Amino acid sequence: MSGKSEIETLNSVCREAKTAGKLSGENLTELYELFGQRFTKALEALKEGRVKKYVFKPSARTVWIVVGRERDYLIMPEAEFCTCDDFYFRVLDKRVHMCYHLLTQKMAQNLGWFEAFEESDECFGMLMDEWKKATP
Ligand SMILES: [Zn+2]
Repeated sequence: MSGKSEIETLNSVCREAKTAGKLSGENLTELYELFGQRFTKALEALKEGRVKKYVFKPSARTVWIVVGRERDYLIMPEAEFCTCDDFYFRVLDKRVHMCYHLLTQKMAQNLGWFEAFEESDECFGMLMDEWKKATP
């Protein structure tokens, strides 16, 4: 495993799990060792179906939402961006590589465990305003 990045390990474990149709005990252990509590929270969000993917047409812009306890979190995977405090204070500070929402989104995408929505580009601004309003 040495030399592999967090993301590479995450992707390979998820690929394995997708093929198997489930996360094995071994997969769970590996991810927990790597991400700790962030993985526990991500898995909880996945199991509870709190991950949503919005694709805007015709531009194909994609926005992911993780529904949280108090508010929703907006994630832009290409930019490795999330609207949570954790991301703001810790990820930008390089203390953690990614917040649990980004981890959740990456797992959801790899495993295909999310709800997908299609919206028209005309709704993009309105929905973004709504999601941003939810941030402090
Ligand atoms: Zn976050």
